[in-house]
Amino acid sequence: MNIPINQERLARTFIQLCEIDSPSRREKEVADYLRRTFHALGAEKIFEDRSAEQTGSQCGNLIISIAGNRPEQETIFFACHMDTVEPGCGVQVLQTGDIFTSIGDTVLGGDDKSGIAAIIELIRILQENKIDHGPLEILFTTCEEIGLLGAKALDWNRLTAGYGYALDSSGIDRIIIGAPAANKLLIDIHGIAAHAGLHPEQGISALCLAAQAIANLRLGRLDDESTANLGLIHGGVATNIIPDHIIIEGEVRSHSLQKLAAYTEEIQRAFQQEVDHWPALAPTALEQISETPTQAPAPSVLVNVQVDYPAMRLELSDPVLMRVKQAGLDLGRTLEFQMAGGGSDANILNSFGLPTAIIATGMNKVHTTDEYLDLKDLVRLTELLFAIVTVTVGE
Ligand SMILES: [Zn+2]
Repeated sequence: MNIPINQERLARTFIQLCEIDSPSRREKEVADYLRRTFHALGAEKIFEDRSAEQTGSQCGNLIISIAGNRPEQETIFFACHMDTVEPGCGVQVLQTGDIFTSIGDTVLGGDDKSGIAAIIELIRILQENKIDHGPLEILFTTCEEIGLLGAKALDWNRLTAGYGYALDSSGIDRIIIGAPAANKLLIDIHGIAAHAGLHPEQGISALCLAAQAIANLRLGRLDDESTANLGLIHGGVATNIIPDHIIIEGEVRSHSLQKLAAYTEEIQRAFQQEVDHWPALAPTALEQISETPTQAPAPSVLVNVQVDYPAMRLELSDPVLMRVKQAGLDLGRTLEFQMAGGGSDANILNSFGLPTAIIATGMNKVHTTDEYLDLKDLVRLTELLFAIVTVTVGE
């Protein structure tokens, strides 16, 4: 298959995109760039949803429709997120041979601008070469990096495609077919404050209680498809005050919903048991002479569990995977079908009933200032997209 990719133009597009600031919630400049680019490419429709009202971003998600010249073929979509992680402003791209890096003080932003650049080049070569293809929809989301907010607020009914591909994973020629669900935990522990030097016996340390509960917990990798972590702790006022309020934030992830529920409950139980068995305070001298018995002050815990994102799992017989598999065969390429350990927009799109596989874009060491991308991988990605669009499955 001879695919007429213009490598220099692809590289230029990628560099341009990386050098536009687009931290989460400030994606407007990239969104404007995409509007201009796809307008010039004759997009049939450019729609911006109203998700900004929920996400707090400067703009909504964009859905761009490309008609194609084979309207009888099924519509598929591609998706990328427009936002990048910090430090991601003022990116200056360095190209050394085929390798793109930042100059070192920011991320590169190949997550997810590698995917965006490949899509733009794809549409350009389809048009320049008058390649037959069916209708395409391109979804550009906001706020992926801060909790998949854009995708969660997406006006997904606007997508008419039956299935699609999120271009958003490291490595190359990898297809992600499953990703875990995650729960977010906010553990709110109340003890009793007291002066640590004068009346320590009148206090209950929320911190000590939390420490006891955590000491009995299993965290880290729990089994081959589940993990748990407590990642943040807030609380305390001064060294001479017994801390009466500690907040711990954590997460549980699993590819299995049953295990996710069980491990989440295990953490809740560990804290509740510690609270239930915490020794009661000795009555104070005043209470000892009091006629009316008072309720002994006791600690308490509240565990707030929020579904962060649902799991996704595709079958090799699903049309979305059959199509990319065929595309790989057409290219004479072996694609790897793998499970991921993290959540992304695809988890949300799948939960809307839009089967979405994740395609690796060649991005590497993402979310670090060592991030890099090889132009050869970006070309390979674009070739794969081309093959997906022009695949001869079922014909
Ligand atoms: Zn990403």
